[in-house]
Parts: sequence; structure tokens; C-alpha cells
Amino acid sequence: MISSASLSSRSTVIVGGGLAGLSAAIEAARCGAAVTVLDKEVRLGGNSAKASSGMNAAPTQAQRNLSIADSLELFQQDTLAAGKHKNDPKLVQILATQAADALAFIESFGVTLDQVSQCGGHSAPRTHRETEVDGKPKAVGWDIMKALQTYIATLAPSTSTSDSSYATANQVPNTIKVITDARVTELLGDRGIRVTGLQFDHASKCHLMHADSVILATGGYAADTNALIQQYAPRYAKLATTNGPWATGDGVKLGMEFGAKAQDLGQVQIHPTGFVDPKDVGAAVKILAPESLRAYGALLIDTQTSSRFVNELSTRDAVSTAMLNLSSSNKKSDSGTLETPPPILMLMNRFVVESYGEAAIGFYVKRGLVQKFESLKKVAEAYLLDALKLEREVVSVEVPDRFGKSHIPVHFTGDEVIYVALVTPVRHYTMGGLRISAEAQAMTEAHEPIANLFVCGEAASGLDGWNRLAGNSLLGSVVFGRIAGRSSCH
Ligand SMILES: Cc1cc2nc3c(=O)[nH]c(=O)nc-3n(C[C@H](O)[C@H](O)[C@H](O)COP(=O)(O)OP(=O)(O)OC[C@H]3O[C@@H](n4cnc5c(N)ncnc54)[C@H](O)[C@@H]3O)c2cc1C
Repeated sequence: MISSASLSSRSTVIVGGGLAGLSAAIEAARCGAAVTVLDKEVRLGGNSAKASSGMNAAPTQAQRNLSIADSLELFQQDTLAAGKHKNDPKLVQILATQAADALAFIESFGVTLDQVSQCGGHSAPRTHRETEVDGKPKAVGWDIMKALQTYIATLAPSTSTSDSSYATANQVPNTIKVITDARVTELLGDRGIRVTGLQFDHASKCHLMHADSVILATGGYAADTNALIQQYAPRYAKLATTNGPWATGDGVKLGMEFGAKAQDLGQVQIHPTGFVDPKDVGAAVKILAPESLRAYGALLIDTQTSSRFVNELSTRDAVSTAMLNLSSSNKKSDSGTLETPPPILMLMNRFVVESYGEAAIGFYVKRGLVQKFESLKKVAEAYLLDALKLEREVVSVEVPDRFGKSHIPVHFTGDEVIYVALVTPVRHYTMGGLRISAEAQAMTEAHEPIANLFVCGEAASGLDGWNRLAGNSLLGSVVFGRIAGRSSCH
């Protein structure tokens, strides 16, 4: 319980209502701030609501219950190794040491994350999610965001707070006012020195809002194809994305215009398996084919050679690179714009489907993203593959195989039912963003903090280095969202 003497009477405005923004909002309100959350979409949630694998933490009670040996040190090492040691080690240390507390914070809103799985790049199972219901994985990001919004609704100010002009932020301590369909377009104050408020568009009008602190929690820019991606990571401009249309790096742009330092903007995480919808092959936005399908034993087949071409259990990086290299033009140049590779098949058998959840696969079948075939031979016929070669590749029992895959989760037989999806590499997450201090404060090029301006979640940079460890962004959003919320009260 916070004593009233320590309560802040400051106003904090948060730009973005994803996990980072709402974590910041709750923490700032608990510190006594009067909080306003602005989101440009009509619904809160951002990419946070799309998260499907879960949230990292170590060591936790859930891990102990499952006799999983893990440590803070191992977690930090894995995060640094994934980031190619380009991470800010101070941020990594904060992430790891506050992880278990962040998990407890989320669980305090009624979302129990007691299932633990091991994603690529982790030395131990530490990605936490909810228990399945009726064989169907729960939508972990969606459930977390719903729970936080339900809680925030209980903190809504009961008095009107300048609805007519929005000239000042919410002024009622300990409350959170949410305004949706409100796109922030500019930061106000002394550029590079101090923020005093912001400008936003809402209900066909432009509004100025003054506030003691501003927190940028606008998410990443994987969907900003024609601007940040084109400018800083043109190599990936032709690939589709898993991100929603809101992921256009607005906070990064607002911060840069205000003199905040951005870094690593060329670092984009490519996920190997976006579902290709046969009815809309060229769609710019693709549904993510979950990582766990490969973990349960799904195989990847190059349709040009009817062969496997990679250890499906390698890191996202390695699998994506192998997929992209199936296009001869990508192989020729290591600096040009990458072309989408030729169609790649992901094959699953009954074991994979049952392990993942039959009902969940049924959802993909219904959407036409996964097709069911009586046998491998029928798959070969449908995709004009060399049937004998395909059978040799898929039914092979060599361990380790020629790609160094030593853990074979399941062996296929030639005459079983096969589920097939077309998959392609997609832009999934952006490591670049605004540089932050340990207090989540924005910094200038000269490494000076900008007064009253804070950044958290995917809009911030430094934690992930040059690649993100799977499951770290939900955690990072909570840890640094809460830090930003607390910092904004001082
Ligand atoms: C399909 C998918 C699955 C994923 N699965 C996982 C997973 O299992 N585990 C994991 O750790 N990570 C996962 N990630 C990554 C993770 O979800 C995100 O990195 C993280 O949730 C980002 O949180 P955020 O709060 O920073 O941004 P977001 O959740 O994207 O929220 C940003 C919000 O800011 C708003 N906004 C943007 N610009 C403005 C503006 N100008 N004015 C007002 N509002 C604005 C947006 O509308 C949005 O609501 C996944 C991502 C995707 C796309």
C-alpha cells in the first residue's frame, strides 16, 4: 500500500494502450498520478493482444512446480546471446531481476500463467502461458489485455475531465482516463530538453493536452513498410508482416522529431512462418503460424526440390535465412532487397496436431490456411512434388539428421493423414527504437535525459540488442512499462 504522503499529484499522459502502455498506466495511477491513455485505434490492445506463445520469467513458482531448473544468470545469458551481445546489459539485468515480479503483476489481474514451454534460443523452459481449455491453447496476449482493461475500467475518474477541450490531461489522482481514436501527432515543450504535453487528433479536431509527464508506448514499426522499414531496413521491405496496421513506429518518429536518440532501426526480426492464404497469396499482413508447431515436430519442405532444407528447431534467424535463401536472387546478394521465397510447405501429422490442440488447428483449417490430406502421396500430387523423394525426406529416421537436428519430436509414416500449410518469412518485431535509461527515460544524442519523457515496450530500444529472445517482449513491456509509470510520477 502506498502512503498518501508519497503519492504524486502529477498528470501522466500515455501514448498507446498496448501492454506497455497499460502497465505504465496502472503503475502511475498507483503512485498517485492522474493518468490519461490515448490510443489511435478504436480498441486498445495493439500487438500485445495478438501474442500467442507467452511471457518469459525466471525463476518462478510455475517452473519450480514443474521441476524446471533455471536461473537469473541463465536467462540473462540467453537474452544477450539472442541479441548478439549488442543489448544494453543494464536493461537486460533489470528485465531478468524484475521478471518474476512482473509475472505476479499480470497474475494479480486473474490471468494464471502456469504452463511453461521452451521456445527457440532458451536454455530452459521459461515462456509462461495459460493452461489449455478443451485441447485449445488460450490466446494469452488477448486474455492479458482484457484483464488489464477490466481493471482499468474500475479506475476511471468519476468526474468529467475537460472532455470539451482536452486542454489538460485527467486531473484526478489515482485514476485512469482512456481516450480511443486519438492519434498523437506531436510532442510539446523545449525540443531535446523537456516535454510539457502533446498534440493529438480526435473526433475530427486537433487538441493540445498539457501534462507533467508523457510516456511513449506506441509499439514497433514492422508494419511501416513505406517509411521506417523502407528507410532503415529496405532489405525486408518486400516481406509481409504479422503486425497490425497500428505498428508504424509513431512514438519513434515523435521522439526523433523532439530530439530523442533512436538506435538499431535496421534491426528487424523475421519470423520464419507466416501462413500464406492460398486465396490471397500476396497479402501484406499474414497470420502467424505458431513457433510451437515446429517444436512439436512440423517439417518444412522446399516445393522446388521436394526436400527438407533446414533444422526446423533452429532459431528464428537461422530458419528464416534458410527459407529466404531458397530464392536464388536472395542467395546472390547479401545487401539487396530480399524477395519472397518460393512456396514452402509445413507438414504436420496427427501427433503435431494433437500436441498443439486439434481445436486450434481446426480454426486454421476453417480459414483455409491448413489443408488435410489422406496421405503423403496425396500431398505430393496436390503440390506436384516428387512423391518418392518426399517420402524419403519425411519418413527418414536418421538421428541426428543431415541438418544437425538431434531432437526429433515425432516420426512420420508415409500412409498417415497429413496437415499442410504454406508458410513464408514475415517481419514480426522491430528491435530498433528510442534509446532509454534504466528509468525508462528518453535520451538525447548527447546521452542527456529528456525531462518528463519516458518510453517503454517495443517503442524503446536497447533491451533486445540485434535480436529478441522469443517471449521477452511481453515481459519487457510489463517491466519497463511499470518502470516508466513510476518514473513519470517523480
Ligand atoms: C502475432 C504476434 C504474436 C506475438 N507473440 C508474442 C509472444 O507470444 N510473446 C512475446 O513476448 N511477444 C510476442 N509478440 C510481440 C509482442 O506482442 C509485442 O512486441 C508487444 O506486445 C509490444 O507491446 P507494446 O505495448 O509496446 O505495443 P502494442 O501492444 O503494439 O501497443 C501499441 C499501441 O500504441 C497505439 N499507438 C501507436 N501509435 C499511436 C499514436 N500516434 N497515437 C496514439 N496511439 C498510438 C497502437 O494503436 C497500439 O494500441 C507477438 C507479436 C505479434 C505481432
